[in-house]
Amino acid sequence: MGGTGGRFGRAVAVAAGVAALAGVGRAEEKKKPGLFDFDTWKSPVGREREAAKQLAPGAVDLTPAAPLPAERRAIRLRIYADRDYQSLVLRWQGKARAQIARLNAVVGPVFGVELQIESLRPWDRSHFGVEPGGVLTELMALDPADDVDWVLGLVTPLRGVATSIHQIGVARSCSRHMVMRGMDDEQEILALESEYKLLSVEERQRLYGDRKAHKEVVVFLHEWGHTMGLLHNDDRAVIMNPAYDPQQRVFSDFEKRVLMLVLERRLGRRADRFPEGAELAALVAGAPSDEGSDRDRAELLELVRGAKGESRRAEARSPPRPRPAARVASSPRPTPPPTTGPSPR
Ligand SMILES: [Zn+2]
Repeated sequence: MGGTGGRFGRAVAVAAGVAALAGVGRAEEKKKPGLFDFDTWKSPVGREREAAKQLAPGAVDLTPAAPLPAERRAIRLRIYADRDYQSLVLRWQGKARAQIARLNAVVGPVFGVELQIESLRPWDRSHFGVEPGGVLTELMALDPADDVDWVLGLVTPLRGVATSIHQIGVARSCSRHMVMRGMDDEQEILALESEYKLLSVEERQRLYGDRKAHKEVVVFLHEWGHTMGLLHNDDRAVIMNPAYDPQQRVFSDFEKRVLMLVLERRLGRRADRFPEGAELAALVAGAPSDEGSDRDRAELLELVRGAKGESRRAEARSPPRPRPAARVASSPRPTPPPTTGPSPR
């Protein structure tokens, strides 16, 4: 699975592979007992059930990032769904609300915040064939997030099973915008059906539902993390690892410090476009070496230092400036890499 690449363009090819489900490869290895494995013998269905456990997602860690105030602070989130999303995801508003509720079950206890949907808006555009960076730029022009804290675009579902977070999500470093694709239910169900023939329909459906919910939460948190200046992390359990893994469950301590700082500043000084600027630069300058590559950190630092804390209204009047976002795949690390291509991440 490792070398399949994560670019959107290759997503369909990736999904066509037999082991396209993240974790199936490893589970398979455990599924086949060794020749002399007498005492671990299980019935075939028992073995499949055991293997399926490897695919089931873990719970996201809920340890508070810091001592939290008693009252949760509201984050105003505006959501757009493009035409493709609206037509392919039935009852999309209800699903989006349920998705945000699952996210609140994480960001509430961990960061003391609550995502509140300001509005769910139809986006009368199709994005079939539009590369994700282009969608993001379009979303920023459509809505500069002057009167809300974050803007989320829901677009064209990805075809196939996503193994990289950036097949589904994209965001720009230090911004207020992110885009998520819908997920292809059918392909993942088919993959589970072919790998786990002996499980009951209910068991497969539960596994599928749990994985989808976990993946959506992780992709959102990952992209949200990028919008607040987080880089990638090599640890497979960390949400900022770009390869999707059902065991992704936590932000690193450093990442939690960054997120707390940015949330604090953005929610406390809403009129400023980039109120975390100087303090974020200081944190990034002292980031541990496992947070992004040297190059990622240098580029992020340049971006943070270059951004100005000007008024959000002032910026909204001028055309959006391209931000020199860091590349993600620059370090020679073994975990699956590249994400979405050029600037967005
Ligand atoms: Zn990423």
